[in-house]
Amino acid sequence: MTTQTQDVSAFVRDAIQNKPFGSVYADKMIVANFKDGAWSEAQIIPFGDFKLSPAAHVLHYGSECFEGMKAHRLDNGEVVLFRIDRHAQRMANSADGLCLPNPGKERVADMVRSIVSACKDWVPEHPGSLYIRPTLIGTLNSIGAAASPSTEAMFYVILSPVGSYFRGGVKPLRILLDDDHMRTSPETGFIKTGGNYAAALGHIAKARKQYQADQVLFAPNNDIQETGAANFFLINDKKLITRDLSNAFLPGVTRDSLINAAKKMGYEIEERRITVEETLEFVKTGEAFLSGTAAIVAGIGTLIYKDQEYQVGNGEFGEHSMKLRSFLQHVQCGKQADEWGWLEQVD
Ligand SMILES: *Cc1c(COP(=O)(O)O)cnc(C)c1O
Repeated sequence: MTTQTQDVSAFVRDAIQNKPFGSVYADKMIVANFKDGAWSEAQIIPFGDFKLSPAAHVLHYGSECFEGMKAHRLDNGEVVLFRIDRHAQRMANSADGLCLPNPGKERVADMVRSIVSACKDWVPEHPGSLYIRPTLIGTLNSIGAAASPSTEAMFYVILSPVGSYFRGGVKPLRILLDDDHMRTSPETGFIKTGGNYAAALGHIAKARKQYQADQVLFAPNNDIQETGAANFFLINDKKLITRDLSNAFLPGVTRDSLINAAKKMGYEIEERRITVEETLEFVKTGEAFLSGTAAIVAGIGTLIYKDQEYQVGNGEFGEHSMKLRSFLQHVQCGKQADEWGWLEQVD
């Protein structure tokens, strides 16, 4: 007789080995609704389609934000959440930035804990993980509310078992360095919202077509910020350099974690403005990479700037970038001491 647990683990194995990243979902989700000034009790329900008014605020005025975080399985079988505090706080900041009813840091964290606890079977073994997607949408039914916030909202969390981001091998990225455009408005860059992504898609699509680039690194006014969905770093044998935070780009949790990890590993940290000229000079010998929850660290092999290609380091995923990636990955799966209290065990 096959138990349900065995069914899930076979399904999860297939998902992380054969399916595209983030295309398979756990069979449950958790939902709470905001109406008449209050949040409903959170409910765990089967993963499935929503019923939503075609006039819902989110569908017309983009009142939406989300998070991306992970749960990991340790060697002893326990499941841990990585930096849930930071992610919950960022979700609350995003909600405020968009004038959405704010579920608050505690509710976000509690609902993530509940659904991951109910779906523990769905957490793959290392180097796979469970990608967690908390999402907040404005559900007010009124196309007349163009200039006012949605007074109704839905907050939900869905889960996706994922394999290693680099299961096809670590291919160094080709990145177009663009100092003509910005990813989104300088005032909303810190908000994790779909609108910012949509705003950058045209530039990314063009870079793919014209330069076979994987991503665009936006550097408005010669100020290198981030790509469409990841933060940017320079690293060599001595130091790690990244842009100091501003409202213009996303404060990555991976970014912050890597800074702490690099400090621990003995690198000097510089958080400051980075220009295009400095970057092109630095990568003659140094390395460059992108950071985010999905890939942790993705090495850059080539920068493309004003129709010219610049090899980064030796053109491969750099040694220091890889060392930093391994360190953080080991913290996440319990193989390296978590001296920051980043891991929280799921009951
Ligand atoms: C989510 C995101 C990142 C990376 O943030 P992490 O917390 O490290 O996953 C970077 N840039 C943008 C635009 C993002 O949406």
